Amino acid sequence: MAWEGSTRRQRLPKDWPARRRRVLRRDGHRCVELYSDGRRCTQPATDVDHIVPGDDHRMENLRALCSWHHARKSAHEGGTAAARTRVSSARPTAKHPALED
Ligand SMILES: [Zn+2]
Repeated sequence: MAWEGSTRRQRLPKDWPARRRRVLRRDGHRCVELYSDGRRCTQPATDVDHIVPGDDHRMENLRALCSWHHARKSAHEGGTAAARTRVSSARPTAKHPALED
């Protein structure tokens, strides 16, 4: 069965709001995404992301992201996990707010 991004939101578990809060608390309400140089983003996390897109809603597959990183990741997700492995060849040129002086 192929993943379909357009229906992903409808498959969230009933306890999603509580789960989401737990992820944010676990990650300290900070974005856990890493920059290419290995530094952690640490912008305030507003979104909870599925590391592997799909129906895996375990804590291990969830992480806190800032809205910028979440939007950037979502933009690259073509509905398949394979699309995630190709993002390096198509990086957006927009800067992360934290990198602007
Ligand atoms: Zn971030």
